[in-house]
Amino acid sequence: MEIIVLGCGTSQGVPLVAHDNPGWDRGEPRNWRTRSSIHVVIEGHHVQVDTGPEFRMQCLSNDIREVDTVILTHGHADHILGMDDLRQFCHARGGAAIPVYSTEEGLGRIRTIFPYAIGKTKVDGYVNLDLRDMPEALELPGGGIVRSTLLPHGVDVLGLVFEEPSTGSRFAYYTDCKRVPPAARELARGVDVAILDGLRPEWHPTHMTVDEACEAAEAIGAGVTYLTHMTYQVDYATYTRKLERSHPRVRLAHDGLRIRLDRRAT
Ligand SMILES: [Zn+2]
Ligand SMILES: [Zn+2]
Repeated sequence: MEIIVLGCGTSQGVPLVAHDNPGWDRGEPRNWRTRSSIHVVIEGHHVQVDTGPEFRMQCLSNDIREVDTVILTHGHADHILGMDDLRQFCHARGGAAIPVYSTEEGLGRIRTIFPYAIGKTKVDGYVNLDLRDMPEALELPGGGIVRSTLLPHGVDVLGLVFEEPSTGSRFAYYTDCKRVPPAARELARGVDVAILDGLRPEWHPTHMTVDEACEAAEAIGAGVTYLTHMTYQVDYATYTRKLERSHPRVRLAHDGLRIRLDRRAT
């Protein structure tokens, strides 16, 4: 399995526009964060999780050539607004619709924002979406499995656990959540890698703070946990040093981070 972090920034991206962004080092490339999104290659199948406003540029900078399945964690603007740029991936499949899995809320948002992209059997040159309810266990072509659970965020958010039978590797992606409920904790327990929402130092009504994310990371017990959906307040060098001392198995993600899980091969 390979995980590519396309973006790990909060809803406005990092840095904020029209703002001094105090404490944030603009000379550190890992501090420049586009909206949160990942691309997962599992048993050779390409899964795109969320398509935010920078989806097109993220595909170009990470050389994303294929998207077979899309999962939308929820319908907030920072996760959905780049969905029209799936059109080239639809073109690559001869105009056939791309399957998009989400919650009822997420699918409703897609219908509202992209009504022209739904219900066409085949349409070349434009985006074509086949909307589907995300099941508890999604079996993908090739044999990879994506298990889902619901995370609290004001709206329900899909928490995802990827399982790759050929390598035995497991990976959890829990973005945009106020906490990791017991069922989600159990689903992810002992994964090789987890990526968790770690917004900023201060309390927030619908996101975990860095400290809350570290507590959740300990409860899940992943080999390595990366934080995502971060604001400018989480300066890369400052927090990397802090976490090395306090939580050595927790790190910050950065845009373009690639994680390979080939457990049986190594
Ligand atoms: Zn978000
Ligand atoms: Zn959100």
